[in-house]
Amino acid sequence: MSTADRKTENAVAGQTRTNLDMAGLSELHVTIDKRVQSIRDGHADWLCGKGCDSCCRRLAEIPQLTAAEWHLLQEGLAALPAESLWEIGRRMAALAGSRPVVCPLLDRSTGACPVYHHRPVACRTYGFYRQRDLGLFCSDIENLAATGALDTVVWGNHDVVDRRLAAMGESRPLTEWFADWPGKGRGD
Ligand code: SF4
Ligand code: SF4
Repeated sequence: MSTADRKTENAVAGQTRTNLDMAGLSELHVTIDKRVQSIRDGHADWLCGKGCDSCCRRLAEIPQLTAAEWHLLQEGLAALPAESLWEIGRRMAALAGSRPVVCPLLDRSTGACPVYHHRPVACRTYGFYRQRDLGLFCSDIENLAATGALDTVVWGNHDVVDRRLAAMGESRPLTEWFADWPGKGRGD
């Protein structure tokens, strides 16, 4: 892609971005970050940490993203090297029907998320939230909770998060957003 083409693409993306509820998404991030920090403050040895990727390797379904989440995520994707983008595109295409889903964005060699600061809301809440009687966390946290060691934790309420996301508009699977994204061509 030429520099002029890239400038045009960025301008269009920026124009679209102003029509999105990016402020609502930022506010939601702040709410989630506060809840996560509060839990971490009470449990310095909280299990979730960099390189702990079991949950990224066992997604129940292909992640669903609002338009605002996708616009943030695509900024992270756009900053990746072309070869990483190519590999992500290859994994996206191979995802159909496989369960559990290994996140196609995950760096499998390091266990790190390459778009950590741009990741979707579900990735930010996992490990720290509950939805009614269901804990949104892995079996390691579940086992710890069963011992009573986490009885003092004030979990986040994911119903509230879902309502705020729903107010931002329709969600689509990550694979669909990616398929429609002009920037993915850089990895071809
Ligand atoms: S939810 Fe479990 S697997 Fe995921 S980061 Fe936290 S401790 Fe690791
Ligand atoms: S986007 Fe990042 S944090 Fe979320 S599932 Fe994929 S690799 Fe994990």
